[in-house]
Parts: sequence; structure tokens; C-alpha cells
Amino acid sequence: MKLDTKAMRHLAAEDWKVLAAVEQGTKNHDLVPTAVIEKLSRLRGGPSSVSKSISALAKTSLIGRVKEAKYDGYRLTYGGIDYLALRHYAQQNVVYSVGTRVGVGKESDIMMVADHAGTQKILKIHRLGRISFRTVKSNRDYLRKSRGQGQGGSWMYLSKLAAMKEYAFMKALREEGFDVPEPIAQSRHTIVMAFVDSFPLRQVSEVGDPAGLYADLIGLILRLAKYGLIHGDFNEFNILIREERSTSRNETKGTEEETIKVTPVLIDFPQMVSMEHANAEMYFDRDPGPYFKDAKKTVGKDGARRLDAAVEASGFTKKMLKDLEAAVAEQLARRGEEGEDADAVEEEDDDDDEGDSDVSGEEDESREQEKAVQEAGPGTEAKGEPGRI
Ligand code: ADP
Ligand code: MG
Repeated sequence: MKLDTKAMRHLAAEDWKVLAAVEQGTKNHDLVPTAVIEKLSRLRGGPSSVSKSISALAKTSLIGRVKEAKYDGYRLTYGGIDYLALRHYAQQNVVYSVGTRVGVGKESDIMMVADHAGTQKILKIHRLGRISFRTVKSNRDYLRKSRGQGQGGSWMYLSKLAAMKEYAFMKALREEGFDVPEPIAQSRHTIVMAFVDSFPLRQVSEVGDPAGLYADLIGLILRLAKYGLIHGDFNEFNILIREERSTSRNETKGTEEETIKVTPVLIDFPQMVSMEHANAEMYFDRDPGPYFKDAKKTVGKDGARRLDAAVEASGFTKKMLKDLEAAVAEQLARRGEEGEDADAVEEEDDDDDEGDSDVSGEEDESREQEKAVQEAGPGTEAKGEPGRI
């Protein structure tokens, strides 16, 4: 899914109202009937004005009409919900323009964005469920069943949960002094965070003091455990290496010497689990380093705040956490199977759940683009003009 912000500036105020109405209607309808859109958008121009906006939105693929459904209706596409999130950020003065894509995971897009002052930030767009669930049968069955009950397993719902959870954990970790990017804002299936000028550990071929870095990383896992948490995907893609250079004068030699200090910055938190989780030992021992049974003894020690409990108490229902966990477990299992670099992106093909299932052509194109980006590696995508939104 390509994030193309070109059409944003051309939408009229009415179009935005109708788009918001479709989003609102999605809470109670799989397909939002035109009559419901009319009611929720409350446009002064009445039905003709609504139908004009519907056409405009459908033309730019922000909503999709579903053919051969039981009744006529529309649903929000990835594009539509992206726009609603971006508009929210624009209105809050969090984002002014969208630049290039700096990373593409299979289930997220990482974009460079900037505010009015030109400060660069990172927009992470969660796209959970864009790939078919197929690896772990129990999770797949769970999600299908859950999906049968309203929004349960839909990509939009799961992606929103992922963004909410990631943001909540980033905030909590940051408050406790962990080195994670500063979380700035969250809307729908997206997060805005500070840009960390760094390289993923994966791309770093040489460090001055590997033993020191290794110790820092093990220390990080143990410190998370103390706060009740397991990262769950602690690997060389999710550790950013920030270099701080400083020069000092060596008086004996009479020379200037440069020292480079490397600091690991941890990212990517939707799969974080509690040390109390039923499968905690499996999750913990899957990440490299220390053993669960040793770390378990330290939970809550030295006055460490229990972040697992704090976040879980911050508005997530048990069902939400379970839905998300099943989806993320699927995602991780698939990655393990194919390798993180695998470029075989398989689209969800078997059902009615994709918001943009009717918007043909677009997905193929974005797949090509994703492949190109993955092959080139992160950070190497061709420069595009930042688009004001
Ligand atoms: P995913 O869930 O798809 O794995 P990540 O959050 O791990 O997404 O981000 C993917 C990549 O995007 C990272 O490996 C890194 O290169 C880049 N990235 C993510 N967040 C930041 C950030 N705050 N600053 C700089 N680069 C980032
Ligand atoms: Mg990652």
C-alpha cells in the first residue's frame, strides 16, 4: 500500500465529513449503507451533496464500493483511514508534510514526515493482516472466529490495536528512562514518533566495542524483565544504533582524539508481553540472551514499576489483547518461517475483509514497490518530493 498524499489537498470539507462518516459507520456495519453515510455526515446539501462526495472519495480509492454484496454500501480503504489519520495530525500541528518511505515491513510502512518547523519525525503505519494468516492454525482459527463477531479480526481493528499498544508501551518505557524513540502522537492505526538518526544493528558491520554493546543489549533485556516485560522480537532490525561522536584533547600526546559512543535504541513494540504471560518463558527464551527463570526472580525489584500491568490497565480489554496477540503471533511465526528479508509478500486473498478489495490494480503496484524497497534495503528508496498535506 503506497501512501499517496496528492489527493489530500483536493478534498473539500464535505468530502472529509463523508469520509469520517464512513469511518464512524464502520463501527456498526461491515459495509456502510448510503443512508447511514447520509445520516452520519449531516451535510447541509443533503443526499445529492453526499453522493457527490461519495463519488469523489471512491474515485480516489479512499472508500470502496463492494460489488455483489448483500446490500449496497461502502467501506473505508487503507487509503481512507491513512488520510483520516494524517488529517488529524495536520490539525494538531504534528505533521505538515510527508516525505519518503524509510522502511517497509510486511505489516507496516515507516515514513519520514516533518512538521511546520521542518523537524523530521517518523510516521509508523500499522498494516496488520494485509498478508493472509496462514501459519499457525490456532491463531488463524481464533481470528476468523473473532472476525465473525463484528470487527474482531479485521485488518483495521487489529492495526489500530497494534498502534495503540505500541504507543502505550513507548510512553511507559520512555517515562522510566528506557532509550526508545519519543512517542509524539497516535491516531487510528498509526503513530508519530521522534526520528532517531541511526542505523539498524543489522546494517552495522563494525563497532568499536562489541563486548560493551553486547553487555548493553543483555542489560536491556534484563531491565525490561525487571519492569515486567518481554520485548518478544528483540533482533538486529529492532535495535537502532545511535552514534555519538565527541572529541577530546589528549594532553600527553598533544592530539585531538575522537571517541564514538554507540547507544542501542529499542523500537517495535506491538508484540511486547508480560513476564506473567502464560507463554512468557517461551517468548523470553526465544529472544537471545539470559534465561527466563533467572530474570523472573527480578520482576518488580529495586522499585521497578510494573509496566505490563500499567499498560494493560490503560484501556485494553482482555479481548483486545488476545485478538492482537493472535495476529502478532501469526506475523512473527511467518517471519521466522520465511526469514525477515523474504520478499514474497502474499496478500490476503480469501475473503471479504480487505477494505480495498474492490480497488484493483493498486495492490499489485504497491507490491512491486515494496519488493523494490526491500531489495534495496531500508533507507535507500529513491528520493521523492515531500508532499504537504
Ligand atoms: P516493523 O514493525 O515493520 O518491523 P519497525 O518499527 O521495526 O517496523 O521499523 C522498521 C524500520 O524502520 C526500522 O528497522 C528502522 O530502520 C526504521 N525506523 C523505525 N522507527 C524509526 C525511528 N523512530 N527512527 C529512525 N528509524 C526508524
Ligand atoms: Mg521491526
